[in-house]
Amino acid sequence: MFDLPITPAPRVQGLVAGKASPGGGPELPVYYPGTGAQVSVLVEDGPEAVAAAVEAARRAFDNGPWPKLSTDARIAVLERCREAILANVDELARLECVATGLLMRELRAMHMKRAAYNFRFFADYISQTAGQRYDQTAGFLTTVARDPVGVAALIAPWNAPVALATMKIAAALAFGNTAVLKPSEQTPLALARVVELLQEVLPEGVLNLVNGRGPVTGAALVEHPGVDLISFTGGTQTGRQIMSVAGRNLVPCTMELGGKSANVVFASADLDRALDGALIGIFANNGQQCLAGSRILVERPVFEEFTGRFAERAAAMRVGDPMDEATELGPLASMPHMNRVLGFAETARAEGCRFLTGGARREDLGEGYYVAPTAVVAPSNAAKVAQEEIFGPFATFLPFDTPEEAIAIANDSAYGLVAYVWSDHLPTVMTMTEALRAGVVWVNTPMMRELRAPFGGYKASGVGREGGAACEAFYTEERTVTIPKTPAPLPSLGA
Ligand code: NAD
Repeated sequence: MFDLPITPAPRVQGLVAGKASPGGGPELPVYYPGTGAQVSVLVEDGPEAVAAAVEAARRAFDNGPWPKLSTDARIAVLERCREAILANVDELARLECVATGLLMRELRAMHMKRAAYNFRFFADYISQTAGQRYDQTAGFLTTVARDPVGVAALIAPWNAPVALATMKIAAALAFGNTAVLKPSEQTPLALARVVELLQEVLPEGVLNLVNGRGPVTGAALVEHPGVDLISFTGGTQTGRQIMSVAGRNLVPCTMELGGKSANVVFASADLDRALDGALIGIFANNGQQCLAGSRILVERPVFEEFTGRFAERAAAMRVGDPMDEATELGPLASMPHMNRVLGFAETARAEGCRFLTGGARREDLGEGYYVAPTAVVAPSNAAKVAQEEIFGPFATFLPFDTPEEAIAIANDSAYGLVAYVWSDHLPTVMTMTEALRAGVVWVNTPMMRELRAPFGGYKASGVGREGGAACEAFYTEERTVTIPKTPAPLPSLGA
């Protein structure tokens, strides 16, 4: 029904030290969510191919130039990584669109620009950071150096593959580490091209790519004894599994996991702005975002007006072809994921939710994985659709009467990734921002990611943070060196 935005390579393979990986596993289909058509196959990397990738990264770390490169030289390489992405934005956006169904408009204007900027950001960061120096202990100079840790395993999800994975790649490399990237098996196309482009810029073995299913390729990677760090973004259950392996191997890890974030709208808000923000909060990225404002809490005096206007706008959204500039909501990323989201519509019916709009597949759009924008009012915050991460275009509304009640509902969640607050009343804003148990709180704005600031979740939404200083702490080892300023006599042992 819809044309493919690009014809991807018929086979996608991993890259080990710049050469096609030995693979070893089965070929897995890659589908275009816009039509459901198979568009490529992925060669799965088995444990031996994964070991080869880790060993290549190890050699590049132990014997290669990368970890010891001067900061200026490393900045120059990071800048060339940025240029390589910027020069190929259109191709990368098209490949990303084919595997994810994300909107071309958003991919070009946001995801790929962010991917390029990730390299600029960390280049700037390392150009600014100086070693710390302590002079307080009389007669001694103590300095703290930061060394790269070693081989980083970088594991990425399918919902924003290039934008999220390049943050990890840029951070790991900027601080002198080498890396093995494992993208989601569902969405390998654009990242395979990114890694290929970066081979032309990076020394051999600094960035390697393995492909395949999580329990096969991903598990082999995190369990490999040559891995020194694990940076994971994905589901909470997977995070638990990976962290238990990291615990056994004593390997530091960061976990960017799921969310069920509260979007709290007060009657004191600019309601037009809050409405636009709530729609972006749940429907951007085709509804598949960890930081979605998926539980929308609205103060009771404006509840009916707000939910009515939201439903009207959601029902009028243009759903369809991700290539079309006018499209506002594209398909979900896979058939199983679409069925999972539709399963939540069934759950909502069984739980007695009131449907404001949606709740069904858009059959009229053919075989693609299209779900109508959906909004329900839940009977209480205990409902499954208020507690579980749906990860689709599905908003769950709840009313509240006081800020205290809004706080109690917002914090009554296993997750704590982000929270949104809409109010023009400063004391209300201050009360909320102090009380919300979330790693990021956005006030009167949706989704403003400041890369200098820490990003990550409370509770089941994660462990650790990403962002400037947080990445520096994660991707480096600190080494304290103490030197006497003059060779003063040492105390005698017998004294
Ligand atoms: P997922 O956990 O199924 O998969 C994520 C990655 O982990 C994939 O590459 C997968 O192949 C791999 N994997 C799966 N099992 C593994 C194992 N046992 N060992 C090693 N690797 C394994 O998640 P997903 O469905 O791809 O992504 C959606 C989830 O990601 C959502 O929960 C979403 O909230 C979360 N997410 C979080 C953030 C954040 O920054 N907090 C950002 C984006 C997505």
